[in-house]
Amino acid sequence: MATDCLFCKIISGEIPSTEVYSDEDVYAFRDINPAAPTHILVIPKKHLVDVKSATLDDEALLGKLLLRANAIAEAEGLNANGFRYVINTGSDGGQTVFHLHLHILGGRALSWPPG
Ligand code: 5GP
Ligand code: ZN
Repeated sequence: MATDCLFCKIISGEIPSTEVYSDEDVYAFRDINPAAPTHILVIPKKHLVDVKSATLDDEALLGKLLLRANAIAEAEGLNANGFRYVINTGSDGGQTVFHLHLHILGGRALSWPPG
């Protein structure tokens, strides 16, 4: 755990969140400022800054994150009309919280390209 990390504090329960899923490696919760009717963040419990910081040691963890996101999207009823996965990376990528998180965005038609 990184003591100054917002999402590590959410994982530990120090900062409350609306849980969607939790196991020993992965936590998922609803975004506090939803950008779509369904907006869920899926994060590793291990503090990783972003995908490019991952190593081969994290190979299974990254797979778990994506497969868990699939299960959550299905459970949220997003498969029928489609949805979007987003991983903002670095400041130009729009990342504001530097603990790897996969956004699941769905429930409305999303525009492309992003701003
Ligand atoms: P980023 O811009 O880094 O890709 O996404 C960070 C996301 O975290 C944003 O969508 C923002 O609304 C969400 N967020 C920031 N602080 C909190 C919080 O305290 N609780 C929850 N549930 N989401 C947060
Ligand atoms: Zn963290």
